[in-house]
Amino acid sequence: MSDMVLTSPPRPTLPVQDGRLFPVRRVYCIGRNYAEHTREMGHDPDRDPPFYFQKNPENLDPSGEFPYPSLSQDVHHEVELLVALRSGGRDIPADKAMDHVWGYAVALDMTRRDLQGQMKATGRPWEIGKAFERSAPVGRLMPAEGLNMSQGAITLTLNGSPRQSGDLSQMIWSIPEQIAYLSRTYDIAAGDVILTGTPAGVGPVTVGDVMEARIDGLPDLSVRVV
Ligand code: MN
Repeated sequence: MSDMVLTSPPRPTLPVQDGRLFPVRRVYCIGRNYAEHTREMGHDPDRDPPFYFQKNPENLDPSGEFPYPSLSQDVHHEVELLVALRSGGRDIPADKAMDHVWGYAVALDMTRRDLQGQMKATGRPWEIGKAFERSAPVGRLMPAEGLNMSQGAITLTLNGSPRQSGDLSQMIWSIPEQIAYLSRTYDIAAGDVILTGTPAGVGPVTVGDVMEARIDGLPDLSVRVV
């Protein structure tokens, strides 16, 4: 006998390479973390503190299909390294931050760029541009053991043509610095995931496109726009 007034929805999960499931608590996304992408969006890449927005756990989608969303005529791909946390806390020092990492995956921060731009122009929150249905396609998670994600190629092709290309070493804020910063801002915890920003070359997709996202050492992510 439960005193829940509604059936409690299941917690969203991400598939692990070996068939297990990773339960997701929160989704943090860092903005402007590669200098060339920061420039292409019209900003100066400097060492201002990192900034974050959030998607909803239910927005993560391992299906390999991305339904073109409502309301937008300009939906962009952003290939990103996803970092999944096994534990958390507050005020975690950067030199202890990697102890909290469970694993990694390739992810896409799909963006309704036109709507995001309207919100920026009016000083309003970005959620309509970022936190929409199935806005974060994700590949299979790999456990962190034996992986060094401080460097390695991160790329995206669209219908086989190169679009985004960078290296994880080009992040303005490193993975441990992002975790340390987040833990001063929020209580971070097991199940939280971080999308760590995108390299240059973002651009629009249309129905029928196939995005192939790759990061050295991780399972590829192939997503069809439907
Ligand atoms: Mn992004």
